Amino acid sequence: MARSLFISDLHLSAERPDTSEQFFRFIDEEARRAGALYILGDLFEYWVGDDELTDRAGDPLARQVADALKSLSDDGVKVAFMHGNRDFLVSKAFCKATGAALLDDPSVIKTGKDKTLLMHGDTLCTDDLDYQNWRKTARSAEWQRDFLSQSLGQRHEAIVGMREKSKEVIAAKPADIMDVNASAVKDAFRKHHVRRLIHGHTHRPARHDVEVDGARCERWVLPDWYGPGGYLALDDVGARLVSF
Ligand code: MN
Repeated sequence: MARSLFISDLHLSAERPDTSEQFFRFIDEEARRAGALYILGDLFEYWVGDDELTDRAGDPLARQVADALKSLSDDGVKVAFMHGNRDFLVSKAFCKATGAALLDDPSVIKTGKDKTLLMHGDTLCTDDLDYQNWRKTARSAEWQRDFLSQSLGQRHEAIVGMREKSKEVIAAKPADIMDVNASAVKDAFRKHHVRRLIHGHTHRPARHDVEVDGARCERWVLPDWYGPGGYLALDDVGARLVSF
């Protein structure tokens, strides 16, 4: 199989230019030499709508990121994007501008002789009931229609408010309820008949060996890019996590 790279939780934002620089470098070097790049959510700190790319008030960084992905897909690297909990409003216009395919969460992809389950990872955090409720609301057509009916500027303001509130909520939560639930992980392996799962979201990069009904399975958690960042590489030899 062609070498595939997996990233998530970059949280790109004009507030952290070093991370954006690392991203553009990664696109030009590692990603350009790969066969495919899978972005498993939270590429952006937040995404308020695809008009970010076309509105005169849009963030220039969004356009630069889209252009970098477009140059990659034009060079023949397959680019796929899955929603995270910060950029679930990424839609068709973004995909058109970048050449990326929008992946469902969860998705099973063929990887050489086996299959790999891809998820953002938030749906595995079933102990965090407040978050799961908010997720249900924010993914509803009604909430999205209302939100997108506001101007780009109003949506930015609304998100800044939500982020402040969310920081307080997260600080007050015990750390373990924001990690994956062990039964939700096993259920995912069973449901999709796979032995490998790759996800992000929890910012706890690791390889976990999980036994599911007697079968040995691997759960790979991608690193966030708040620190040095990194990615997972998968080829015929197997998977490995790489830190910058
Ligand atoms: Mn996330």
